[in-house]
Formats: sequence, C-alpha cells, structure tokens
Amino acid sequence: MTLRVGGMTPLSTTDWPGMLAAVVFCQGCPWRCGYCHNPGLIPARSDSEIPWEEVLAFLHRRQGLLDGVVFSGGEPTLQASLVDAMREVRALGFKVGLHTGGAYPQHLATVLPLVDWVGLDVKAPFADYARITGVPGSGERALAGLQQVLESGVAYEIRTTVHPTLLNDGAVTDLARDLAARGVKHYAIQAFRSQGCQDDFLNQHATRTQPLQSVGAAVADLFEDFTVRG
Ligand code: SF4
Repeated sequence: MTLRVGGMTPLSTTDWPGMLAAVVFCQGCPWRCGYCHNPGLIPARSDSEIPWEEVLAFLHRRQGLLDGVVFSGGEPTLQASLVDAMREVRALGFKVGLHTGGAYPQHLATVLPLVDWVGLDVKAPFADYARITGVPGSGERALAGLQQVLESGVAYEIRTTVHPTLLNDGAVTDLARDLAARGVKHYAIQAFRSQGCQDDFLNQHATRTQPLQSVGAAVADLFEDFTVRG
C-alpha cells in the first residue's frame, strides 16, 4: 500500500525553517483539535487524494532544485507506508522533514532514523491533552513522542499553538517550564490563526489581551532557540 496523500505544496520556505522544501500532506489523523487548519485531512480517505506515484514524478523533476521534502498532515505516522515513502524520497537525494503530533510514538521511533528534522507539536500540558485533541490518552502518546524525538538526536523544533481560550498565558509559561525541564532546547510558540479553522467559537474568541511576544519574553531564556510566531 502506498502513502495516502491529501495535498501538496510544491515549494515552501516556512514549513522547514531555513530549507526550500516541498510539503506532502498525509491523509488521516486520529485526533480532533478544534483549531485544525486542515480538517479535510482528518478522515482516513479523501476524494482529492494525489497518487503517490504523481508525488514521486513531481519530485523527480525537482531534483537539485529543492533541499528537502516535509511529510506533514494530518498525522504522517498514522500510515505504515510512511517508512517506504521516506526511503524513496531519500533515494532521490532529498532531505526528509516530518511534522507530527507524536500520536504513534512507536512508529515515530521507526521513522526517526530516516528523518533529518522534525517539527513536533506539543498542544497542551500533557495531563490536559484531551481538552484540545478530544481523545483520551493523547497526552501520554504525545509525551512518549517527545521523548523519542529528544532521545533520537535528530534536529527538531517543538512548537505549541496558542489560542487564548484553550491555553492562557499562565498555562503557556508553565508548559514552557515543563518542556525545558524535560530537556527541550528548541521551542516555538505560535499564535492561533483562523485560516482553515472551522470552529466558530475559536474563530470568534481569538483576540489576545496582550501580545504573545510578551509571554514569550518571560520564557525565552529557558531555551537555546526560542521563537514567537504571529
Ligand atoms: S493533530 Fe493536527 S491534523 Fe490532527 S486534528 Fe489536530 S491539528 Fe488537525
């Protein structure tokens, strides 16, 4: 079975910081975050899937023009065929990036040796995860995923999307301290964007009382690299 791909961005300068990359959006996700930007990628199948052979043919034409390919989602590690897809991409000479929430930590451990950089979402304090994902036990999985990434030695960025009604400023500060205590060195917080989000409540209550930058200033020193986006 080949990788189910729900969409593709031919060229991105933002999905893998510092790299020119194509982004492959893997179809399917086990979680149900209200702020999801790509809800069309959540179901296991979609009417608008791109055959993996087409993705490979595109990448053949981009050899030498792109640094790498980012597997994003959805949740890429949902699919057993991710390993083969990564091998094929590497064989074409591309570096491999991965966006994941850590929903399948064992599969994540299997693919990490094929990955040059991983962007791992940490959505909330681990004990409070189901409030964001809608899925009991998701925090334990995300924590195991974080540990896999930190132990692997693969370059990474841990990132948290902040919506003021889901994660208040105190919770962001506590989460940052917890992540630093667990050994996270590269961390980014990013403001919620309504683009693509289909949750009316979240879209209508996204105004912040103080800029996210001021929250970031309180925790920046905990990390080697720290970024605030948006
Ligand atoms: S884990 Fe990501 S893709 Fe899945 S529902 Fe949440 S935001 Fe959407």
